[in-house]
Amino acid sequence: MLSWIQQRWAALWLLVAAHGALCLFLYGFFPLKYHSGKLAHMDDLPNFINGVSIDGHEVYNSGENSVILMVIDGLRYDFATEEYMPFMGELLKNKSGCIYVSVAEPPTVTMPRIKAMMTGSVSTFADVALNFGAPAVRGDSVLRVTKSRGRRSVMYGDDTWLRLFPGLWADSDGTTSFYVTDYTEVDNNVTRHLDKVLAPDEKKKPSFDFLVLHYLGLDHIGHLEGARSPKIKPKLLEMDDVVKKIYAGMRTWDRSGILIICGDHGMRDAGGHGGATAAEVLVPLVIIKSDNFQCPHPLGPGPTVAQVDVAPTVAWLLNAPIPGDSTGRILPSLLPVDYRQHLYLLHVLAAHNAKQSLPANTEFYQQFKRAESQFAHFLSTGQESAAKIAKDFYEESLEDMSKYLTETTTDFDLFAIGIAIFVLYILTGALLCVTLYSFQQDPQRKTSVVRQHRSQASTIVAFAIIFFLISSTLLISCFISETKSRFCSFNPIWSIGFIAVSLAVTAGYFVIKSAIERTKDLSALRELNAIDYLLIIGTLFHSWSFFGTSFIEEEHMTWYFFWNTLMFFILIRTIVVVVVYFTKRWSGATEFQDKLDLRDKMSSVGISIVPQWVLLIALHRYLRTMNQTGDRWLFLPDTADWLNAPENSFYLEAHIVIGTILTFGVCLWNVRHMNNFMQMHSALTVCATACVFLYRISTNALDTRYAFLKTYDPVIIVNVFWGLLIFQVLFELATYIGMFTKCGFKPKNNRNKFTYTKPKAKSEDYFYDEMDEPWNFEEVKLNLARSLTHIMYNDMMLIIILLMRPHNVIMVPSIYFTCVLTSKCLDHKFLDSRTARRTEVADVLSQALVHLWIGVLFYFYQGNSNSLASVDLGAGYVGLREYSEVKVALRMGLHAYAGPALAGARLFCALTTAPSITWNQYLQSVWRVINIFALQRVYQLVIYCVIATIFRHHLFVWTVFSPKLLYDFVATVFSMQSLSTIGNIVLLTHVTSWFARLFTYKTTL
Ligand SMILES: [Zn+2]
Ligand SMILES: [Zn+2]
Repeated sequence: MLSWIQQRWAALWLLVAAHGALCLFLYGFFPLKYHSGKLAHMDDLPNFINGVSIDGHEVYNSGENSVILMVIDGLRYDFATEEYMPFMGELLKNKSGCIYVSVAEPPTVTMPRIKAMMTGSVSTFADVALNFGAPAVRGDSVLRVTKSRGRRSVMYGDDTWLRLFPGLWADSDGTTSFYVTDYTEVDNNVTRHLDKVLAPDEKKKPSFDFLVLHYLGLDHIGHLEGARSPKIKPKLLEMDDVVKKIYAGMRTWDRSGILIICGDHGMRDAGGHGGATAAEVLVPLVIIKSDNFQCPHPLGPGPTVAQVDVAPTVAWLLNAPIPGDSTGRILPSLLPVDYRQHLYLLHVLAAHNAKQSLPANTEFYQQFKRAESQFAHFLSTGQESAAKIAKDFYEESLEDMSKYLTETTTDFDLFAIGIAIFVLYILTGALLCVTLYSFQQDPQRKTSVVRQHRSQASTIVAFAIIFFLISSTLLISCFISETKSRFCSFNPIWSIGFIAVSLAVTAGYFVIKSAIERTKDLSALRELNAIDYLLIIGTLFHSWSFFGTSFIEEEHMTWYFFWNTLMFFILIRTIVVVVVYFTKRWSGATEFQDKLDLRDKMSSVGISIVPQWVLLIALHRYLRTMNQTGDRWLFLPDTADWLNAPENSFYLEAHIVIGTILTFGVCLWNVRHMNNFMQMHSALTVCATACVFLYRISTNALDTRYAFLKTYDPVIIVNVFWGLLIFQVLFELATYIGMFTKCGFKPKNNRNKFTYTKPKAKSEDYFYDEMDEPWNFEEVKLNLARSLTHIMYNDMMLIIILLMRPHNVIMVPSIYFTCVLTSKCLDHKFLDSRTARRTEVADVLSQALVHLWIGVLFYFYQGNSNSLASVDLGAGYVGLREYSEVKVALRMGLHAYAGPALAGARLFCALTTAPSITWNQYLQSVWRVINIFALQRVYQLVIYCVIATIFRHHLFVWTVFSPKLLYDFVATVFSMQSLSTIGNIVLLTHVTSWFARLFTYKTTL
């Protein structure tokens, strides 16, 4: 088992296993079932009320109607005013239309909202994850019941509808919702059908019964430019024209036309949505009827309604039964005036809800029963007072019923959650042990080879026994707890999951066991100083802070506080060290007198660090004001708002230019770590930067007097950019294999560069050791790793510059400067009078943690948060003409996690350039850093999973805790991705040196 923890990539495998456990946790936390499979029929309509007979079909009939549901994506409540939509405002003012505030349940994302409107049931949080996949709805829906009644449904707009309800449309034309950069085409695609579809036929009837129009343009403007964009108003005026057109069309019909205008969700001022703020949750719901309609709410908007109310309303208007899982009510202004009809409808709704497994002992159920008897009384006697009482009773019980049904639709798979947390705990323990093991000064790797060989067979037996024990324990607990969990269902897929869990636990057990046995010497940790402890304690404490919901919503505050404390500590420590040195020196302490290089360092570096540090603090203060994030103070204006105002475009352009040029400078500075053909790398960097500028010009972010530059196609520019980056990597690899040397190019041989040197000539005293390569392959490998890591870092900076919003470009070089300056100050030997200390471990630990901190810090500076609303969709479409799920997801991910990615990459660059480092030392530090990163991730994960489980009935579980879980999921995926990239670089060096050995240098060996 020893080999397992000596395996340098053990942490990576443990991280992958932890990700698997997280998936199991999410499965248990976000149950996927949201429909009972109940399909509604007209025969379900009750024909007796408490024994009094009534003709259900006749009373339920709402007459001949055609319904138009016009969904304007992202239409929030304050957009539905007379200023933005004058025609609609006029109708509302003279009460020929009715407006309601409707509440969209979070997650406020399109797909779950459409589902809610069509099925009438609140969807679970899992829908967010499926938002992009949109699998078909299998339960009952308005579209199914209307189709079963022979109605024609037509759909124009967002094709999510077509994917959710396939085969239920008589006619449709879908536009893809994913191409966010398109504001006009998506809407024209809908409007161009209107003339034809609204025109009445010879019987003066429209060709449809139910028409859905889904306009996406407004939401797209919001995502890219925010809710205060000057483009919002023209777009809303365009929507108002559509309303006017529909209204005029409806009046030519011989039947009643009902137009329902609503937003699927709102948008934040910054433009995103997904969270639970008022701007996202409150949407207008407007009802306009073609004939003699008078809104019954004389003052202002009607009562607040729920988004799920659309489903029963539309179903009833089309004379179809109420969808099976619906929990909504019928919009009050459409309810018939006739008491008999009105009460019957209320009864149908209440009876429908009561059938959805409501406990009979609740107050609202009793209220329903009382209402029923009053209704029966009214039917048999015709007493109006009884009708009024019945109406009140029905309404009260309906309100409580919907509340109850919304709250109890989720049931957690606690068994799966428990198992997942248990596995995560074991894996955290294993990672901790592996990390501590890797901290040993000199891991005794060559321990008795004989003993290891002897134990090989017994190891396998031991593994099998433990595996058997663990899986049988799991099996027994499955049966004893009599859980209904799918985990214990033992169908083929879940059996694989079962075996995987047992394997992970067994492997974790052995890793812990052998690491504890082998970890003997942790003296390296004695070198930790106060700042290291601050870093460690801060990192550990941070995960526990999530017990408060505000700490999740305002997580950036925690990090800003941590960072300021750290900056302050470092500054004080540097000043103290320098001052102490000089006082001692001047007072004549002998120990310092003869160390000249230390004096130079103290006087030049030690003093200059203070002004640099002050500048850094100023820079961070500025970056902090750039994007307002979190929840509570989100509405406050920030620097980004100011920069994006049209009158300040000069400063915005200055930000782009300065940010890009500084990044370019950093890239050129890094080129010195690449191979002999430095000119080539510099030229490629220049071209790539030129592409970035051209892209900014062609997307109008930068102004130029050369107008022809603006006509360039951004997609082509970005493709050229990719080409340059890929070429650079291939070129580097080709050089290392020795291709160019073989073709006759002789690179100049200087230090730090790549050349394969010939083996020493065999002489008498030449001692040939198998471990020692006669060629300097190891040195070349290190050079290649250094070169590739820097190319990766440079490319990543350039790509992120391309993806960033204009005002955020400045973040990229800022990360570099922060990392460089901070790691210099944290170096344990820096400004230290004592020499001969072994501080590698302490250095690696503090560097890894501080780079983690810097990464998270910039993650928040950039405007990210733990709410789904801050996901920037725009970055996903840079340089894309067609929608491609993978490409968009990768771009969005890299953009969102730009801070952590850049800080991490910079750390790995620093590892390769440590002074007088050997290949083995390099591998050792990479190993330690990967362990620390993986440990931190899994530690945070396990604590958060426990917190989410404890708070699963908390009021904010779907608005605060769950989005954070999704963020954690993505963060874990990206840490796996980035750590395996480093693994790949090491792998690539091995492969390249193998190639070089095999082909290029074969003859000379
Ligand atoms: Zn939407
Ligand atoms: Zn949207």
